[in-house]
Amino acid sequence: MSPSQRSFHPEMLQWLIIPALLIWFSASYLLGIAAQPVWLEHESQKTAQVLAISKDQPPALPAKSDFIWNQTGLVTFWFDDGWLTQYTLAAPLLNKYGYTAAISIPTDLIGYEAYMSWGQVKRLFHVYNWEITAHSRTHNCDRDTFAPEILTPEIIGSQQDLMAQGIRPDIYVVPCGKTTPELIKLVKDNYISMRDATGGLNPIPINDPYTIHAFTLHDHVSLDQVQLWLDQAQTEKLWLILMFHQLDTTGGEYSLDPKKFEVVIQQVTQAGLPVVNPSQVINLLPR
Ligand SMILES: [Zn+2]
Repeated sequence: MSPSQRSFHPEMLQWLIIPALLIWFSASYLLGIAAQPVWLEHESQKTAQVLAISKDQPPALPAKSDFIWNQTGLVTFWFDDGWLTQYTLAAPLLNKYGYTAAISIPTDLIGYEAYMSWGQVKRLFHVYNWEITAHSRTHNCDRDTFAPEILTPEIIGSQQDLMAQGIRPDIYVVPCGKTTPELIKLVKDNYISMRDATGGLNPIPINDPYTIHAFTLHDHVSLDQVQLWLDQAQTEKLWLILMFHQLDTTGGEYSLDPKKFEVVIQQVTQAGLPVVNPSQVINLLPR
């Protein structure tokens, strides 16, 4: 048999096809990585930006510059306590509908199980454009312990903690709504506004920036009730703040089912009321 006859033997083909397939699969895989969806590239760039923020940079102000009030009622979604589900469930859902929100952060709880990390808090601020508000360090609700040496680190210390992360909070949210005259004075000396846990709609512009009210929304609050608040905000041109804790299906006292939360978002959309961050409304005050 001559060498040329051997090279055309059909059994030799498998030794060409197998390496060719391997090369083809490898090339497809590499090209697939290079051609990942644009949003993925975009997201990773944003994450890099967040991580690049240095503690030495001046704290960023809450977004409030370009808001024009068109004499309508307004709605704010406001999350308390920095629960992880507010990041994993609420933020993507609100983002899907094009809405931002506010969140109040007890700074000592960040990083604990069931709570967000600082990276997640910063991502809400820089990527989702949420407003970050102060909410003490330890979430102490025991008014009997409110001596000056306790209040100062809770109120001023929590502000410093957020500033150290590059975020300047303008608003203090009182844990459990428990205040004393000394607490209110410290807040007034260090913040432009204070929100409590009392249910109620707010006038626009607000009368007193240190008495901002919010309705707490858990599983036991009916969707009909939410609709009544929305109707009142619409007809009387008031500011409705809807406040939330955990989003989950445990049925706990402070829980809201994520499915019900999405219906609430849809109710807000249906009402056609602008969704705003708190500083945008507080900034409407003549100064
Ligand atoms: Zn709280």
